[in-house]
Order: sequence, then C-alpha cells, then structure tokens
Amino acid sequence: MRATPHDHTEEGALAKLPADDDRLAAATIYSSLEPCAERASRPRPCAQLIQDAGLRRVVTAWSEPDTFVAGADGTKTLEDGGVKVVELPEYVNAAQAPNRHLL
Ligand SMILES: [Zn+2]
Repeated sequence: MRATPHDHTEEGALAKLPADDDRLAAATIYSSLEPCAERASRPRPCAQLIQDAGLRRVVTAWSEPDTFVAGADGTKTLEDGGVKVVELPEYVNAAQAPNRHLL
C-alpha cells in the first residue's frame, strides 16, 4: 500500500483512489494504529488526509503513544472534523505486536 517506506498506510490507501471518488464519503478506513495528527515529513498528517478525502468513519485499535509524537491526538483531530472514530481496544495487543520494537 505504500510507495515508499516513509509513507503511512492511510496515505498509501487514499492515493490509490481519485480524490473525487464518490465511494469515499461512505467508506470506512481501518487502521490498527490511530491515524497520525502530526508529521514532520509531510505537510498533512493522515487524520487531515482522511478528512480531506471525505471519509466519515475510522476504526482503530491502538491510540498513538506519546513516544511517537508527544501530544498528537489523531482521534481528536478526526472527531473535531466530523469523523466518527471507533476504537476497538480488544485488538490493541495484535496491533502492537509488529511494532513492539518502537515502544
Ligand atoms: Zn499517518
């Protein structure tokens, strides 16, 4: 889903669709890690890309830890933009498993 190793999966997925694809408004994006609210390497974080694409629902399992970007709150950014965020904490261990080296 990613063009480069620095791409986040959400942006890779959104880049595969035309911006005017009318399916986006009814789509749900599933992201094991909460979409990011801040990025040093991109002008727009994933939470903003999701809003700009017109998506209105996100399902996630793991809130971004402060060890990634302190104080960034992707869920709040999304909800402030009118996106419904559903967190499924019962999947947090599975979401963290491939990323334990980052914690
Ligand atoms: Zn991101």
